[in-house]
Amino acid sequence: AGASQPEPATGTYNGAKNENGNYVVTMIPGDGIGPEISKAVEDIFTAAKVPIEWEYADVTPLLRNGKTVIPDEAYHSIHKNKIALKGPLATPIGKGHVSLNLTLRRTFNLYANVRPCRSIPGYETPYKDVNTVLIRENTEGEYSGIEHEVVDGVMQSIKLITKPASTRVARFAFAYAAMTGRNHVTVVHKANIMKLSDGLFLQACQEVAREYPNVRFDDVLLDRACLQIVQDPNQYAHTVMVMPNLYGDILSDLGAGLIGGLGLTPSGNIGRDASIFESVHGSAPDIAGQNKANPSALLLSSTMMLRHMRLFEQADSIENALLNTISEGKFRTGDLGGKASTTEFTDAVIKNL
Ligand code: NAD
Repeated sequence: AGASQPEPATGTYNGAKNENGNYVVTMIPGDGIGPEISKAVEDIFTAAKVPIEWEYADVTPLLRNGKTVIPDEAYHSIHKNKIALKGPLATPIGKGHVSLNLTLRRTFNLYANVRPCRSIPGYETPYKDVNTVLIRENTEGEYSGIEHEVVDGVMQSIKLITKPASTRVARFAFAYAAMTGRNHVTVVHKANIMKLSDGLFLQACQEVAREYPNVRFDDVLLDRACLQIVQDPNQYAHTVMVMPNLYGDILSDLGAGLIGGLGLTPSGNIGRDASIFESVHGSAPDIAGQNKANPSALLLSSTMMLRHMRLFEQADSIENALLNTISEGKFRTGDLGGKASTTEFTDAVIKNL
């Protein structure tokens, strides 16, 4: 099934084995359903004999001078291990501290957010054979965090686009396309309206495209891309779509909707010095603590992580067990129309290993 098509991330990973012959990975269980779904991943990794030891990190923020700061222990753990698996973190809306997710991305310069969007074989949705990868610039754009009140009743949020950050994520997208055999990169933008900022992003992609003569390259306006994806996502089959921050945030949830929902969508945040893998969904406070959550998105994030670490065999075995469990249909969680609890689903995946 999905495992026949490995999706390695192309960032650098230089983690080393410890004295027990295992890799050490930072585990951030997160809020809400986070502890339940990360326990599911741990149990499946143990059963699959993955050579990984977890180092737990509490990232509950420290506020220093009004700024969100990652606690030292968690910072050092991620920095040392260069790789982390992260559950969802709750973010206050409109007030309070800066999003911890945003702080992690900035602190570790996680410049490329990779979100594969692939149909799950055997799980019926109105769309068949969706198979695209979205790559979102993860450090600036509309999420630069530069906001201020100009005068009473007038707010300004700055959309920041720089040539180095655009070129860096474009290079990542092309390298990813070449490495995974997709060989087609589409840049999504609104350079017709934001001629300077999106224009620069587009220009950076065009320049990088010249370094990859064997990778097909084209561009599409964001609104047109939305229309086309909803009408027929197969137009983008086997394509890598690269885009500024906000567009990627929105398009990837649209993509999640095509394949069956947030419970199935993984992601990787790739940086030069560290990479953090996480599900696209949030902490789901409405079902937290009830043994109802679907751990699939975090588990698929963990198999992306294994491929990033070049542990292909283990990634394939876990992903096949997961896909078989979903397609058998007997132990689906509530979000997929089933009645299984998180732990029953996890046990079924383990039996399928
Ligand atoms: P959400 O993704 O947590 O939940 C949306 C809906 O999807 C809910 O009905 C939820 O029950 C369901 N759902 C999500 N994941 C599921 C799973 N694994 N299994 C079954 N059902 C699942 O989105 P929200 O409610 O908007 O956000 C809740 C909190 O999560 C907020 O504080 C938000 O800021 C945060 N959040 C964090 C991240 C992250 O850490 N990367 C991402 C998105 C949202």
